[in-house]
Amino acid sequence: MVLLVFLGLLAIVAYDEYVSWTGKIAQVEQNLTQSSSAIIQHVDDTVQMTESLLDALLGTITARDIDGHSNLRLLAEMKRLARLSGRIDFFSFVDQNGRVAVSSREAYDPAVDLSDREYFRFHRDNPGPKALIGKPVWSRLGGGWILTISRRYDHPEGSFGGVLIAALPLTYLTDFFGKFDIGAKGTFLLTRGDGIVLARAPEREDMYAMDISSHELFTRRLVGASSGVYEYQSPVDGEKRFGAFARSPRTGIVILTAASRPETLAAWSALARIRWTSFGLILALAGVAAWRWAHQTRLRRAGEMALAAREAEFRLLAESSSQMIQRLDANGVQVYVSPAATDVLGIAPEALLGHSIVEGLDRESALNVGAVLHKLRFGTRGETVVLKRDLPDGREVWLEVAFSRMPTTADGLGGFVAITRDITRQKREQEQLDALANTDALTGLANRRAFDNRLRLLTEGTGDRAAPLSLLMIDADKFKLYNDTYGHAEGDVCLRAIAGAVMQSVSRREDCAARFGGEEVAVLLPGTGFEGAMVVAQSICTRVASLGLQHSANQPWSVVTVSIGVATLPAGSREPLDAEALFHRADKALYRAKEDGRNRVAADETDGFNPSRIKATG
Ligand code: GH3
Ligand code: MG
Ligand code: MG
Repeated sequence: MVLLVFLGLLAIVAYDEYVSWTGKIAQVEQNLTQSSSAIIQHVDDTVQMTESLLDALLGTITARDIDGHSNLRLLAEMKRLARLSGRIDFFSFVDQNGRVAVSSREAYDPAVDLSDREYFRFHRDNPGPKALIGKPVWSRLGGGWILTISRRYDHPEGSFGGVLIAALPLTYLTDFFGKFDIGAKGTFLLTRGDGIVLARAPEREDMYAMDISSHELFTRRLVGASSGVYEYQSPVDGEKRFGAFARSPRTGIVILTAASRPETLAAWSALARIRWTSFGLILALAGVAAWRWAHQTRLRRAGEMALAAREAEFRLLAESSSQMIQRLDANGVQVYVSPAATDVLGIAPEALLGHSIVEGLDRESALNVGAVLHKLRFGTRGETVVLKRDLPDGREVWLEVAFSRMPTTADGLGGFVAITRDITRQKREQEQLDALANTDALTGLANRRAFDNRLRLLTEGTGDRAAPLSLLMIDADKFKLYNDTYGHAEGDVCLRAIAGAVMQSVSRREDCAARFGGEEVAVLLPGTGFEGAMVVAQSICTRVASLGLQHSANQPWSVVTVSIGVATLPAGSREPLDAEALFHRADKALYRAKEDGRNRVAADETDGFNPSRIKATG
C-alpha cells in the first residue's frame, strides 16, 4: 500500500519533470527559431542594401573612372557609400584582367591579381546583372576576412568589363550574432544556399568557405522546408545541439542557430535538482512517518493481542475460582464480576455490572472501601478490607476483600481488582473463641480479663468526659458460711443464680457485669450517673433476695443476699479517669454496706448524692 503510494507519487513527479524538460526544450527551440529568423532577416537586408549600393555605383561608372588614371571621382563615391552603409568595409572595382582599378581600401598592392577569385570567374563567365555572394576570403588588399557581394560590369559595347565588389568584414556578422543569447556553447552557422560556409560563431577560420552541402542540414532538413528545428551531433566539436535553421527565400542564405543540449540540460537540471532534492526530502520524511505509523500499528496490534490473551487467562482463573473476583474501573465501577458472585453474595454477576463496588454496603464499610481505593490510587499496590454485608436473603455475611491496583493502561486509567472471600464462618468461630476467652466459665458473666479490657477502653483518652461512669461492687453475704452449710457445689449453683439476677438488672448494651473473683461481681455502668447506678444496685439487691435461696446462716433473712457498694465519676470531670480510685471508693462503699448490716446498697460519701444507706426490704 505504502509502496503503491510511493510509486504513484514517483510517477507523478517523473511525469512533471518530463513535462518541465520538454517545456524547456520548446522554450530553447523557440528562442533559437526567433534568433534564426531575426538573423536571416538582417542578412537579407544587408545583402539587399549592398546590392542597391552596387547598383547605384554601377550606374555612375564610366570608362574614365576605370582607366587607372582619373579614378578619384569613383573612389570618393565608393568611400561615401561605404561610410553611408555603416556595414560595408570597402568597394573595389576589378578590371577585366583581374587587377584592382579602384578600391576604397587605398593601401593595397596594385600588382595584386584577383583573376582567380570565384566572383571574378563567375561574372566573367556569366553575363547578366545577377549579384553573387562570394565565399569568405582573406582580403588581398590589406588582410582581414571578408564576404564579397559583387556585380559584373559590362563595357558599353557589351563585353566583360570587370567586377564591382562590396566587401563586408566577417566580424560585422559575428558581432551581430553576439547580440543573441544562445549560451556559451551555442553556435551560429551562416551558409550560402549551396552549402558554402559564410560565417560561423564562435569563429572557426578553417570552416570558412567549407562546403557542407552533404551535411544532414542540406540533405534532409532543408529538403522541402525553409525553416525548422532539429537535434544533431556537431561534426565539428562533437557537441549535441538543438538547432533552428532558416533559409532566405530571396538570397537562399541559410542560418543555423544552435544551443548545446548538455548546457540546456545543465541549466534545467540545476533547477530540477532543487525540486528533486526537496521532493526526496519530503518523500524521506513521509517514508519515515509511514514506517513509524506501520510500526506503531504493529506494536498496537501485538499489544491488543497480548491484552486479549491476558484477558482470557484472567477470565479462566476468575471463573474457576470459588472466590468472587471483580474488576473495577478507575472509579470503582464493576466492569467484570466472576460467577462466584452468585454463591458469595447471592446476586447474579450481571446484576452487579455497571454498579459501584460500594453499592449495597453500610455507611461505614462504604467509607472504608472508598478510603482503600483512594490509597491504591496514590501508591499502595494492595489493601485488604473486612466488611459486613446484608444479603438479599436476609443473611448477614462477613467478607474479606483484597483490592489491588491494575497497571495503568495506555488510556491512562488503571482500574482495580477485588477478590472477595466469605469469612463468615471464621468470623463466627473467632467471635465464639473471643467470647470464651472473655467469659467466666461458672457464671457466664464476663471474666476479669474482659472487665479490665473494658475499663481500659473507657479510661483511655484524656480531657473532658461527656458521660458519667458508675461502678458497682457486689459481694454475697456470709458466703463462707453458705459453703460450710450446703457444700461448695451448692455454693457454685448459688453463685450462678446470683449472676443471673445481676444480668437481669443490667440490661444496657454498654454495661458490663463481670465475675471479679470468688463470690464478687463488678458492674461497670458507662453513661449512668449516680442516681441511676443506685437504682440498678437496689434492683440487684432486691432481685437476689427475692430469689429466696435458702441460707439459714444469713440472719435475719435466711435467704441469700448481697451487699453492693456504688461509686460514680460524674460527667464533665476534668481529671483523667483514675480506675484505681474508683475501685477504692466502690470497695469502701461495699465495706460500709457490710458494716451497716448487709443486704443493702451503700454509696461512697464523696459522691454528690447524700450518702443514704438504703436498707433492703424483705
Ligand atoms: P461477708 O462477705 O458477708 O462478710 O461474709 P463472707 O463469708 O461472704 O466473707 P467473704 O466474702 O470474705 O468470703 C468469701 C467466701 O466465698 C469464701 C469462700 O468460701 C466463698 N467462695 C469464694 N469463691 C467461691 C466459689 O467459687 N464457689 C463457692 N462455692 N464459694 C466461694
Ligand atoms: Mg467476698
Ligand atoms: Mg461475701
